[in-house]
Amino acid sequence: MTAPTPHVLVINAGSSSLKYQLIDTATDESLASGLIERIGSPESVAHHTVDGTKHDKEVECLDHGQALQILSNAFQEHGPVVTAESLIAIGHRVVHGGATFATPVVIDDDVIAAITDLIPLAPLHNPGNLAGIEQARIAFPSVPQVAVFDTAFHATMSPAASTYAVPKAWREEHGVRKYGFHGTSHAFVSRRAAALTNLPVAEANVIVLHLGNGASACAVEGGTSIDTSMGLTPMDGLIMGTRPGDLDPSLPGHLSRVAGLSLEDYDKALAKESGLQGLTGSADFREVMTGYQAGEPEAQLAVEAVVHRIVRHVGALAAVLGRVDAIAFTAGIGENNAVLRELVMLRLGILGVVADEAANNSAEGEALISADSSHTQVWVIPTNEEGEIAQQSATLVAS
Ligand code: AMP
Repeated sequence: MTAPTPHVLVINAGSSSLKYQLIDTATDESLASGLIERIGSPESVAHHTVDGTKHDKEVECLDHGQALQILSNAFQEHGPVVTAESLIAIGHRVVHGGATFATPVVIDDDVIAAITDLIPLAPLHNPGNLAGIEQARIAFPSVPQVAVFDTAFHATMSPAASTYAVPKAWREEHGVRKYGFHGTSHAFVSRRAAALTNLPVAEANVIVLHLGNGASACAVEGGTSIDTSMGLTPMDGLIMGTRPGDLDPSLPGHLSRVAGLSLEDYDKALAKESGLQGLTGSADFREVMTGYQAGEPEAQLAVEAVVHRIVRHVGALAAVLGRVDAIAFTAGIGENNAVLRELVMLRLGILGVVADEAANNSAEGEALISADSSHTQVWVIPTNEEGEIAQQSATLVAS
């Protein structure tokens, strides 16, 4: 009998899209990746990339079951071969694990029921994640399915960090507390930051700035999360593409009284119409930065507010950590936008940060962007959430 290939299929299923990646966990190599967009519409689009070639196809994809079929067909048509025998696991990204899941778990009916119970904490995310899981179990019934939670990395936060000072009944009956998100990214990037600064993970204090369409900052002490900017839901903290981050908690009551806003209107406005979208009319940071550089007042205010918010959170997390060895920029904006990184670094003199302008402007892949004289090292570190999910899934099924 030949040993199974250590391949993990990583699935990140949203309500209307499904991203996937096939990873060889022995080498960390990504063998193929894909995206099925507009699930639920007769005019969906499927993209499958293998060996550097992207294959695009218009398909009908009315539900997640069809999405799994399209995924299987893409592997059959363009490779590589994916069968129940070639996979050691399917790793699913699940956004909210609440207080129930502090580690990845092999999925069974009880796990599905528990993730279903957590839907009220992540109504925009957990239902899509669950649909992906259920259909992958049907498509690959003999392959172990693993759930890796965005919240799990933050389970190490102390009660002092995770407690909201609200009535006891809210906390005890409804799980109201800070959970934090982007855990697989913060785990991966903070480990790389420790390695790059030549410190054992157990001794490195790192602040990770995950700046993408969603954005969060995390204080990582000795490999564990001790505080983070997101809270009960992925809404709190930094200014994001369409979400506002920090707000005064009295806002829903105020808007209900003065503008008659319903809770549904309020939730929708915060999820889809706030952040960069609310400030400039565009949720895409590239467009906002173009406006900033052209001197457009709205874009200038937006970038200044984004920078101010990041600096304020870095300051708070630095105080919580007590000592900062490295700061790491990651995700779409953090990895690609040198101007934003420079604006942030210029404001971090309190941590002894000295930017290396040339290194920052030419950064590609993993790059040190602070000067030799900088008291705190600053790095760009591309995140690898799929790779982290694959590794965590492989480790779990091997144990
Ligand atoms: P993510 O959610 O990590 O995919 O990041 C999405 C965000 O990254 C969007 O706001 C993009 O505009 C932004 N982004 C991607 N590439 C670049 C780039 N080259 N320069 C600036 N922002 C970028």
